[in-house]
Amino acid sequence: MKTLVLVGGGHAHVEVLRRFAQDRPPGVRVVLISPDAHTPYSGMLPGLLAGHYSREDCHIDLRPLCDRAGAAFAMTRVEGIDLAGRRVRCADGQTHQFDALSLDVGSTPDLRSVPGAAEHAVPVKPVSALLEAWRDMETRCERRPAGRLRLAVVGGGAGGAEVALAMRRRCRREDPGDEPAIAIVTNGLLPGHSERARALVARALAGRRIALMGGRLVVRLSAGEIHCASGERVPADLIVWATGAAAVPWVGQSGLACDDRGFAAVNDSLQSPSHPFVFAAGDVASMTSRPVPKAGVFAVRQGPVLTGKKDRIDRAFMRKYQAGRTPP
Ligand SMILES: Cc1cc2nc3c(=O)[nH]c(=O)nc-3n(C[C@H](O)[C@H](O)[C@H](O)COP(=O)(O)OP(=O)(O)OC[C@H]3O[C@@H](n4cnc5c(N)ncnc54)[C@H](O)[C@@H]3O)c2cc1C
Repeated sequence: MKTLVLVGGGHAHVEVLRRFAQDRPPGVRVVLISPDAHTPYSGMLPGLLAGHYSREDCHIDLRPLCDRAGAAFAMTRVEGIDLAGRRVRCADGQTHQFDALSLDVGSTPDLRSVPGAAEHAVPVKPVSALLEAWRDMETRCERRPAGRLRLAVVGGGAGGAEVALAMRRRCRREDPGDEPAIAIVTNGLLPGHSERARALVARALAGRRIALMGGRLVVRLSAGEIHCASGERVPADLIVWATGAAAVPWVGQSGLACDDRGFAAVNDSLQSPSHPFVFAAGDVASMTSRPVPKAGVFAVRQGPVLTGKKDRIDRAFMRKYQAGRTPP
């Protein structure tokens, strides 16, 4: 009996488990390792912040999924991979031996490159920490006039813009003077998107009284203040960090081949070129032949590739996505 260890209950592994539930692979013991039993579908996160969905609506319970797929579930966090010994080391002190390993642990916004960000900002991921900070913010809104609170999002990508819009929806009051001020501080709105998309989002932000502070390079955070390269300081009671994705350090430290940003290099079959018994999908993976954006839609489509039902993400989808014709 061979052992397949799935690390992370991300979008691709959810799809793998769903397929295993329908068609179990013979002669394989499957183990899923995840620090949480519930994994968020982050495409719905802005809707959760805005109040459109409940927490249950946006989370998938991994335990029944594992039960149906005949997989064991280990609720812990992987902290390192021993590639020579073919085992992963976990935060609870356990190690799990594997014949094949698959990584789908996502990414987090890069808090390391800006001093003070880790201490004074709340990253958009993990979702659980953002929700906790958001609940705290709502309590503060109840305690003092919301109109005196200042919320800021650092990062003007699609995620940052969505989160700012969701915060406005949640804090909307009949009297706009009673709403918190919301700003996006960024060196560029929607980089990588079309001019038309940028114009539409800028209009949506202006229409909802969200200040777009573009052309600002954030260089430091201190308690309640964002410091820009120009010397400008932006005061904020809550700073949400929504900058580009960073890789988890232990993947690169394991000796696995990685790209220059520390994401696991994989071929079209999602297999590591340095260690063919290791696979990676979703944000943690970097496809060497044709890089794809760090987006959940790609992670979902990588599930069938991991199970061997497809040999690559289909080209028609890639073309549509790149042309901006596929909703996220
Ligand atoms: C606000 C916001 C909105 C977004 N909206 C969209 C959208 O509309 N459409 C879209 O396509 N993308 C969207 N994205 C991007 C999307 O969230 C990611 O690209 C997607 O979640 C990546 O999926 P994944 O499978 O790589 O990992 P994830 O879905 O992030 O899952 C990773 C899992 O791994 C687990 N994990 C982490 N570390 C460890 C560890 N050490 N050991 C074990 N398990 C671990 C985590 O608990 C988590 O369950 C959005 C992102 C944000 C921040």
